[in-house]
Amino acid sequence: MKQIIVGNWKMNGLSADADALAGALATELAALPTRADVVVCPPFTQLARLAPKLKAAGIALGAQDCHKDASGAHTGDISAPMLVDLGVQYVILGHSERRAEHHELDETVREKAVAAMAAGLTPIVCVGENDDQRSSGDSQATVGWQLEGSLPQGFTGIVAYEPIWAIGTGQAASQQDIADMSAFIRAELVRQFGEAGKTIRILYGGSVNARNVTDILPVEHVDGALVGNASLKAESFVPLVRAARAS
Ligand code: PEP
Repeated sequence: MKQIIVGNWKMNGLSADADALAGALATELAALPTRADVVVCPPFTQLARLAPKLKAAGIALGAQDCHKDASGAHTGDISAPMLVDLGVQYVILGHSERRAEHHELDETVREKAVAAMAAGLTPIVCVGENDDQRSSGDSQATVGWQLEGSLPQGFTGIVAYEPIWAIGTGQAASQQDIADMSAFIRAELVRQFGEAGKTIRILYGGSVNARNVTDILPVEHVDGALVGNASLKAESFVPLVRAARAS
């Protein structure tokens, strides 16, 4: 499967930052072989501004959340058709920060994934255990429950394994940890979806940077990376994408 690098800006980025990154990506990456697809997920406020610039650079546009309904009385929310209307192709769902800060349950994530697929978006559903769950030996059980609860029938999106203990720490999970969990996720996907489970891309996320990405991408069952901090600046994201495309 073709690798995919997804940049998650989280709640960062004003117009000047968006212009700078899009400009650098367009000039630096256009000439590279497209061995890895690239997706940038800015905050909602920068989607319209970035859409034409990223399209011209051959980079896909993603959002960081969507509502489960297509429209209605949901003040402050954004629906999947609204994202499609702007040229968005991907949407991150169930990120651990949304699960923690907005109390999103697996069921909420599943409903959003249904809405995203119905609108024609590719959902990137995040799963991952926290430090306590890891220390008590419950990593696989936690991720197993999340997959079971968060992925709807007929799921055609992407799964991102993001161990919470590695996010934003500067210290990615070890190759062995990533290999063990990715193999487990693959087996669970096949159990849930049969043959189709073999075609669902599995990403690793958690302190991925230009130095470690070349160790992570070759791990079996890893089909790409979800990148937070290192996707915010051209100085860190361009070398990461270069390394990914060269690997
Ligand atoms: C994330 O939160 O999606 C993430 C991968 O963050 P970071 O790369 O900063 O650990």
